[in-house]
Amino acid sequence: MNISRLARTIAKSPTFALNEEARILRERGEPVINMSIGEPKNKTPITAILSSATKLSGGDIKYTPPDGTPSLKKAIIRYTEENYNKVIAPENVIVSAGAKQSIFNILFSIINPQDEVIILAPHWVSYPEMVKMVYGIPVIVTPEDGTFHPRMEDIERAVSSYTKAVIVNSPNNPSGEVYSNDFIAQIVDYCERKNIFLIMDDIYHKLTFDGAVWKPAYNYTNVDIENTMVIVVNGIAKLYGMTGFRIGWVVTNRKLVEVMTNVQAQTTSCTSALLQAAAEGALNGMQSVVENLRLTFQNNKRVLVEELKAFNGIRLIQPKGTFYALPDFRAYIPSSLAKDSMELSQLILKKALVVTVPGNEFGMEGHLRLSYAGSVKDIKEGIERIKWVLDPTSPSEIYIGDRKLVRDWL
Ligand code: PMP
Repeated sequence: MNISRLARTIAKSPTFALNEEARILRERGEPVINMSIGEPKNKTPITAILSSATKLSGGDIKYTPPDGTPSLKKAIIRYTEENYNKVIAPENVIVSAGAKQSIFNILFSIINPQDEVIILAPHWVSYPEMVKMVYGIPVIVTPEDGTFHPRMEDIERAVSSYTKAVIVNSPNNPSGEVYSNDFIAQIVDYCERKNIFLIMDDIYHKLTFDGAVWKPAYNYTNVDIENTMVIVVNGIAKLYGMTGFRIGWVVTNRKLVEVMTNVQAQTTSCTSALLQAAAEGALNGMQSVVENLRLTFQNNKRVLVEELKAFNGIRLIQPKGTFYALPDFRAYIPSSLAKDSMELSQLILKKALVVTVPGNEFGMEGHLRLSYAGSVKDIKEGIERIKWVLDPTSPSEIYIGDRKLVRDWL
């Protein structure tokens, strides 16, 4: 078949593939624990349900303006004022089908072929693929000091005359790291001086733990919204657990919003009116929903950290936010059991029915990403099962569902 050269190079989304595998196993009645999930398990906030239900029962679901309904934009403007301390106009906002499309629209609108985009490892799986999709070149910068925190000197070394943008995601998927405010101040200053776009993927910005403080990048620039290099991406998926509603947005200068609106108008026309109504309901509704999720994840993180402490050889940099952790499994790979994180993840799924995401997907070979968005019971049992697969000091027998299994490979 004549598939395009570019399309052929785009990797399958590993997280969706793993979720699918988990779903099939579960449908077969297997007691799968999914620690790969990238979504909170809460029910949709009632204000979002009511808002979209009202819209639906009105029976008037038509195209909306390509950049979003005026009322949702109004809610986003208020959100930006409250959370970013930034006054913006409707012309500074464009709504898309999830933050994913928001980021794609940005890249499509700013990248020329061969332009470079700096991505900080560990990084969200989709950034490099999206950069490739617009004929740009992803430049991955990995912290040299064994932490998950980027350093300015490494970034500056990676910058070339082709560098068009840097993507920053803090709180970070997959590590749960929250970048220091000093670092954010430095990168904002650097990008403003060098005319490099700074794409802030703030999708987890309220999910921080134990006093870690996220601050908006706008705090560190005096340049006005029409001229700043800072581009903000946010959405409702993670904060309100509304992943299925597919609403995200970008805040940036009018010109870029105009260009992205043209791109969106020619591709998807607009985001669904129904889902925009739901997003409006969430943004205008009770914000205790977000705080409840944050508290749940903070507690789940504590449980995960405790469980991993009792796991021989595993090192963990404690997450400060999100609902992910990226423990270091290099004590077990390479080994006779698995040569890399992909094989390790497959082994754990096969032997113990626990779904994890291999670290190579995030630019961190030797690690596995574990989500703690599930229940405390799943976290405890998930880690116990992984331990059973790998750690020879753990009991050799285990119950998985109602099956008693005996480890015979260590
Ligand atoms: N950015 C990051 C870092 C993410 O983890 C995700 C979702 N996994 C997104 C963006 C996309 O969010 P949305 O569901 O709004 O498209």
